[in-house]
Amino acid sequence: MSDSDVRPLVAGNWKMHGLKAGLDQALKVRDAVSAAGFAAPVDVMICPPATLVMVLGELAGGGRLLVGGQDCHTAAQGAHTGDVSAEMLKDAGATAVIVGHSERRADHGEMDRHVRDKAAAANRAGLSAIVCIGETAGQRAADLTLDVVRRQLENSVPDGATAANTIIAYEPVWAIGTGLTPTADDVETVHGAIRVALVQRFGEDGARMRILYGGSVKPDNARELMSIDNVNGALVGGASLKADDFLRIVGAYGT
Ligand code: PEP
Repeated sequence: MSDSDVRPLVAGNWKMHGLKAGLDQALKVRDAVSAAGFAAPVDVMICPPATLVMVLGELAGGGRLLVGGQDCHTAAQGAHTGDVSAEMLKDAGATAVIVGHSERRADHGEMDRHVRDKAAAANRAGLSAIVCIGETAGQRAADLTLDVVRRQLENSVPDGATAANTIIAYEPVWAIGTGLTPTADDVETVHGAIRVALVQRFGEDGARMRILYGGSVKPDNARELMSIDNVNGALVGGASLKADDFLRIVGAYGT
């Protein structure tokens, strides 16, 4: 099984950006990836804020543009004011949900065990879980990157994970929104270590599980980052807000 047999995914994480008026950017992406001439072997997803998941789900209409959520509760329903369940996201048209993004780990105290339970909830609802892991600047400076990433992977990914229901996103925290990226060698080392750990734990599913890189992916560095071994796509924050930039990143896989 070669890495090139894994179908890549480019997913945009809009974070807490986007009103209805901003959906024109998502529609531009939808139309571009649905056009007859678009033959790139890549899945394309936008994860808007929860308020826009249903409307984008309807506009995407089950076509080539996939829609994802940014977080979910572990329960299917209940007395959890302000939360959204994986089942609700699925009902709204999502096919995936990001869990364990470093901003949620930092802002909401989410720990690996919470992330694992959210990923399991996503799978229960029939969604793919995009499980985020990555080291802080301090951990990197202390040469702890591989230890941190292996520990997060072990504890944030549920036992039932398969290549179909789980996607790993390696996002060095210090690279998110900073314009900084690791060197290609560093990305290759970390993604290679993730692949080894996934294969050890999940066998053939681990070999086929997608591993996205995230952290300051831009149109001008996407091609290099996406060509690294065991990089099976990207999780894109800031550059996913403008359709032209996002489509240029998608274009790293040809059009
Ligand atoms: C992210 O938050 O998932 C992300 C990768 O952000 P950015 O691309 O803006 O660094």
